[in-house]
Amino acid sequence: MIYDYVIIGSGIIGATIARELSKYKVNILVLEKENDAANGQTIANSAIIHSGHDPKENTLKSKLCVEGNLMYDKMEKELTIPILRTGGFVVARGKDEEKVLDELYHRALTNNVTDPSILSFDEAVILEPLLTKDATKILSLPSTKVTYPWAVAFACLENAISNGTTFQKNSEVTGIEKIEIGFTLTINFKEKIQAKNIINCAGVFADQIAYMIEKDVKYQIKPRKGEYLVLDRKAKSLYNHVLYALPTDQGKGVLVVPQVHGNVLIGPTSSFIDDKSLLSNTRDGINQIKKDVKRLVDHVPYDLNIRTFAGIRASSTFDDFYIKESSEHKGFYHVAGIDSPGLTAAPAIAKYLVEEIIKEKLDKKENWNPFLKHKKTFHQMTNEEKVKAIKDDKRYGNIICKCEKITEKEIVDAIHGTLGNDTIKGIRKRARAGSGLCQGGYCEGLVLKLIARETNQPLKKINYYGTDTPILVKESKVKS
Ligand SMILES: Cc1cc2nc3c(=O)[nH]c(=O)nc-3n(C[C@H](O)[C@H](O)[C@H](O)COP(=O)(O)OP(=O)(O)OC[C@H]3O[C@@H](n4cnc5c(N)ncnc54)[C@H](O)[C@@H]3O)c2cc1C
Repeated sequence: MIYDYVIIGSGIIGATIARELSKYKVNILVLEKENDAANGQTIANSAIIHSGHDPKENTLKSKLCVEGNLMYDKMEKELTIPILRTGGFVVARGKDEEKVLDELYHRALTNNVTDPSILSFDEAVILEPLLTKDATKILSLPSTKVTYPWAVAFACLENAISNGTTFQKNSEVTGIEKIEIGFTLTINFKEKIQAKNIINCAGVFADQIAYMIEKDVKYQIKPRKGEYLVLDRKAKSLYNHVLYALPTDQGKGVLVVPQVHGNVLIGPTSSFIDDKSLLSNTRDGINQIKKDVKRLVDHVPYDLNIRTFAGIRASSTFDDFYIKESSEHKGFYHVAGIDSPGLTAAPAIAKYLVEEIIKEKLDKKENWNPFLKHKKTFHQMTNEEKVKAIKDDKRYGNIICKCEKITEKEIVDAIHGTLGNDTIKGIRKRARAGSGLCQGGYCEGLVLKLIARETNQPLKKINYYGTDTPILVKESKVKS
């Protein structure tokens, strides 16, 4: 079989492109090297749907960010993705910073951001009581919102699958060869797949993919790490907006970001690194966050810090998103250098690629279905709905994750869903078991047993996140 389009990578970009392309009469294969979709940048970011105030004027980043922000409203209705409408405040302290804030306000107007305005400290502090007392002027961005990034990627991919797309995980592209009609891709150094067109959405690895087929690659990925602190849901009511400091050449700086499930993110830092997989947190990074956040708020309850994490941005030497057909090989498309605001821009990137960069005339399917059936979580149900759910299926009555109130039934659904998964991290991503205050201290063992039971595997075979990451290594207690 020859695929019309092979998409390399199933982060938010590969997923939104698969959904967009699935509107047309083409056969599509999405290849992912990990054992799950959305494990790269898409799982470790600030989750903000930016307004578009920050990217330089007349760039793809500015155009696609503003368009993408608006498109999320439609995706919310079609795919039932979670969105929290916080609005954003950019904070200036003193005359010098106010000048930069004014420039940013004019940039927001030029970029066609929805309804930006300037507030005084007195106006802003009513809406954001913990705002630093050093703040003098605030840029208000009402269209800033927050989502749950990997849930968006899953929803797009599941919708693409229901419209005929094929998804293949554990499939690393290790070679690409040009053939007469299209390309041959090598998967995991052995399997061969043929494609008429390839779309490279490999995130921080996009340049490595490009070097498999091009001599003169026009961009290099320069991985840029960002570290975060996560506050427990108890911090929910402390901050109302996404709070930004003024941007520097290092990016948007440390932010305060309320999350859709009530947690608060503080971060990210920004440091260029050599190793694309270096996801550890550092003492320097955490200290930097604690220092920089004082530019925004007077109080952070660090006793509510439940975990830390880091993500790696696919920044590139090309000073914008690099979305082009290869100049060496027709039918090979780069969607590269997709760092921030890539999550926001994703649906607009997909549309731009399919409608403006891909020159092939594509026929629309008459029966394309934009909707994804959504099931309420136990947590979202009314009391009457909960009683009925337990009556219909008693697994709803067995709470596995006590912090987040996740039931056995939801975990079983996460294991067996369209994009089902059999790792602890995979279940956490889907059902949120282990995302609360105890961070899985109570429920991880129970989730492990459920995965083993549902997939007929011995307990020792269950992995934490990918292949060869078992949690249980050997028995540590002597049985009497
Ligand atoms: C710290 C940080 C904060 C950010 N904050 C925001 C924000 O608040 N708002 C915003 O709009 N954007 C933000 N971004 C940017 C946003 O997260 C990214 O632009 C977006 O996630 C990019 O998605 P992607 O699909 O291109 O990349 P990824 O999610 O990295 O996906 C690439 C995929 O390709 C796969 N892959 C790689 N090589 C191969 C191969 N050889 N074969 C098969 N598969 C392969 C990977 O496993 C991965 O799943 C942030 C990014 C970071 C890191």
